Amino acid sequence: MRVLHVAAEVYPLVKTGGLADVVAALPAAQARQGAEVRLLLPGLPSVMDGVQHARPVIDIGSCFGALRVRLLLARMPGTGLPVYVLDAPYLYRRTGSPYGNHGGEEWPDNLQRFALLGWVAAHLAADDADLKWRADIVHAHDWHAALACAHVADHPASDVRSVFTIHNMAFQGLFPLHDWPLLGLASRHMSPAGLEFHGQLSFMKAGLQYAHRITTVSPTYAHEIATAEFGFGLDGAIRSRGADVVGILNGIDADVWNPAIDPAIAARYDDARLEGKRACREALQAELGLAADDDALLLAVISRLSAQKGLDLLLAALPQLAAAGVQLVLLGTGEPSLEAAFRMASEAHAGRVHVHIGYDEARAHRLLAGADAIVVPSRFEPCGLTQMYGLRYGTLPIVRRVGGLADTVHDAGGTQGNGFVFDEATPTALAAAVLRAARLRTQDPKTWRMLQQRGMAADLAWAGSARRYLQLYRDAAGSAGVPGAGR
Ligand code: ADP
Repeated sequence: MRVLHVAAEVYPLVKTGGLADVVAALPAAQARQGAEVRLLLPGLPSVMDGVQHARPVIDIGSCFGALRVRLLLARMPGTGLPVYVLDAPYLYRRTGSPYGNHGGEEWPDNLQRFALLGWVAAHLAADDADLKWRADIVHAHDWHAALACAHVADHPASDVRSVFTIHNMAFQGLFPLHDWPLLGLASRHMSPAGLEFHGQLSFMKAGLQYAHRITTVSPTYAHEIATAEFGFGLDGAIRSRGADVVGILNGIDADVWNPAIDPAIAARYDDARLEGKRACREALQAELGLAADDDALLLAVISRLSAQKGLDLLLAALPQLAAAGVQLVLLGTGEPSLEAAFRMASEAHAGRVHVHIGYDEARAHRLLAGADAIVVPSRFEPCGLTQMYGLRYGTLPIVRRVGGLADTVHDAGGTQGNGFVFDEATPTALAAAVLRAARLRTQDPKTWRMLQQRGMAADLAWAGSARRYLQLYRDAAGSAGVPGAGR
């Protein structure tokens, strides 16, 4: 089985969220299971600088507004997986995020930047780019790669199959319909049964309409996106694909997120020897200038600061939580209004609330190891990784019962308890769950330790889910055409 994963980000080269972690760990797990896996990435500066042993495969020439486009083949650092890189300086060589500038504005030529990615993916899979390699399956991640599915479906003589994974339904890649000619896709797909979405052009629809199989990153989210509440206008498109849509839970990279070997934390520990966690907690309190208070529940947040993540609920609950003795450490970046509000909260509760606005991988590890609990109060959450990192680090997750959070965290009150779960998206419900955790920790340390050990012993690694994807590829390979539009 030859699989081409196509994505805009991959850890450790470029990461804005969980997508990068998945695109790093899933292909590596599949390779260990015998699949022949390669990646295709845009040649962002950190990708060009970070890959190893790059050599040219083909000069593609002028396209999508760029004068010089080349395809390179290189190796990923760490895993050594083969990775194709699109070297198109005019489109990709700029500082900022993969999607926009430092000010948070999207790049105005994102349509061309990601149309190129999907177009090359389909050609590479169909033996039209690297004469030494082709793919059986193109696995396109999020809207950035979705056009690959339309191009694969468009080729009348190809037996390549495509799989589209939705990492977040909220990001759809919408552009003005009048830019259609820039796409390089036949105009017969310019209809509501194709890429058109309420008078706009939707990259995500290229995945939803034309992929042979659609996956999302947790079973609960797979159900949720078929509803108006979570579908962001595309729930009808999801429902119309019926059983072609499946939820496969993300795993975590058990080598990167492992307190027994983590070089970024003050002391190593595991489920049998938790003393190291106490040392990490003391080190974190000292580092961040928090009182060395043993009884305080030390709560962590590691998150994009966006409405999705429900952190406005935490802000509203903070006075009550601080008054009850809870300590909070937050690491995040995102919406300026939330950044400012958390900065102000840290000033109002100095010594009790510490806020670091920024993106800092090593600090994320220190917070996970040092905190007692990690809170994820999301309004919606496709899978969520930080609650799983929390389980692995003996840092009990406090989550809202939604998406992948509902699939991975079970309330301490039940027989499978490994954290704390609440339902309503309100500051009151959030505060009640946090205070419940705080009480349990001081009043019943034995149960707390049992919950920690249950989370730490759980198998959260990728092997099982990677195998499910491989089975899905086999099903797709045996399938006929694409149901839905344009066929
Ligand atoms: P999402 O993809 O919606 O942002 P996930 O929970 O799936 O949420 O993944 C978030 C990933 O990004 C995790 O690996 C988390 O540790 C990391 N992360 C988020 N914010 C920061 C930050 N400010 N600094 C370091 N890592 C962060």
